[in-house]
Amino acid sequence: MRVRFAPSPTGQLHVGNARTALFNWLLARSAGGTFVLRIEDTDVERSTAESERAIVEDLRWLGLDWDEGVERGGDRGPYRQSERTHIYRAHAVELLSRGQAYQCFCPSEQLEMDRYTALREGRPPKYAGRCREIPRADARARVDRGEPAVIRFRVPEGRDVLFQDLVRGEVGVSTDVIGDPVLMRSDGTPAYNFAVVIDDALMEITHVVRGEDHISNTPRQLLLYEAFGWRAPAFAPVSLVLGPDHGVLSKRHGATSVAEFRARGYLPEAFANYLALLGWSPGGDEELLPLEELTRRFRIEDVGRSAGVFDVEKLAWVNRHYLKQAPPDRLVALALPYLQREGWIAAPGPAAVDFLASVVPAAAASVDRLEQVPARLRFLFDYSAARALGDTAVRAEADAARPVVQALAEEAAGDRPLADREAFRAMVARVRERTGQKGKSLLHPIRLALTGEAEGLELDVAVPAIERGSRLADSGVCRIPGAAARAAAFRDALAESRP
Ligand code: GLU
Repeated sequence: MRVRFAPSPTGQLHVGNARTALFNWLLARSAGGTFVLRIEDTDVERSTAESERAIVEDLRWLGLDWDEGVERGGDRGPYRQSERTHIYRAHAVELLSRGQAYQCFCPSEQLEMDRYTALREGRPPKYAGRCREIPRADARARVDRGEPAVIRFRVPEGRDVLFQDLVRGEVGVSTDVIGDPVLMRSDGTPAYNFAVVIDDALMEITHVVRGEDHISNTPRQLLLYEAFGWRAPAFAPVSLVLGPDHGVLSKRHGATSVAEFRARGYLPEAFANYLALLGWSPGGDEELLPLEELTRRFRIEDVGRSAGVFDVEKLAWVNRHYLKQAPPDRLVALALPYLQREGWIAAPGPAAVDFLASVVPAAAASVDRLEQVPARLRFLFDYSAARALGDTAVRAEADAARPVVQALAEEAAGDRPLADREAFRAMVARVRERTGQKGKSLLHPIRLALTGEAEGLELDVAVPAIERGSRLADSGVCRIPGAAARAAAFRDALAESRP
């Protein structure tokens, strides 16, 4: 089995295309086949090297490796269509010489007008065939004189093209509705329908898994296989990825590219797992399956015909699962750029890395995606008593909490370190004894005073972290005030704000 993913490098990798890549990869890996990455950059105006780089990077990020293709090589290259023009040309010439293709000189205005007339008369808007019968010698003379020409395929008349579609069963189309497709444009570049057939045939692709938006192209492509006497691959069109309103997932739904989701801090294994579930089901209730397990269970025949609706809530659920499983070191490495973006950390030294490994997992366990980690750790790196009190909701409660805050400031100023959970709990017990407050009216003021926030991580995790952080010296992390300093600052800010 040989399959391929054939993106056009005209932008970021779209979620729908990423899923197509994943299905191809799963198919190859589940069958011990070969996965080829081919770049379809025949649209010279819109293709960029930068987009190709971004697509390659996203595929690698998702964990999809390829056996042949760009940046990897192989026996059936080159794998970039712009480097294969001579191959397309030679094959077009072969069809010309057999009369299965012909040169067409119709100017675009003529084609527009024919199209318009056909539509008005209720006929399919296919090429009218004006240049079909030009004698070859005449056509050649015109080309030699420099007249611009495209090469068109001569579609056989009055035939049905039947093909097996692995997802939909047998599909048939009459050739009468198929206009003669352009094979080579007048600028010498190949058209998609031509290049894709030549490449899939020469690269010996056995299964073509691609978006169902290509279903209408498939009959044309089959006729070309036939014209060359080549055996056609099996086709498996996969449904498109839709947005919540059941329109094709697009910008108006928000993020659509893998790069955007990646920047938001979804883990690659979570994203790949979620993509696989879009339009395919492993059966049973189990859905949280890493790539190796997906590979064991994947069958292309099980890919449903119904479109997959992209569900960000479900993606978040899958991501939370993988976030909870990720080892602390990895979470630190992944969360670091987001913390650096806040300006809280420069290059962390070993002590800072250890410190982060002690707090980032707790923060990551309570978010949907890593982008949200800084908000959970703001209490550490960006404490401000004044700002906390500036929030009117916090103020309203803080006034009632003066006695607790006063006692807290005194207890925290003692020389007992609060570096662990037990020490913190003991201090809370002393504040309770002194004030007679308990439950929420005890813990809430303590939370406000020490974290500057009305909610967040468990206090017996947060406060020891504050204390450990306050002792990090010169370790690439911004200064973290300790519990005593915070309690005093909050008490003073509260006193100043006394009505
Ligand atoms: N370059 C085409 C696309 O991105 C690939 C179509 C195909 O897989 O045949 O839509």
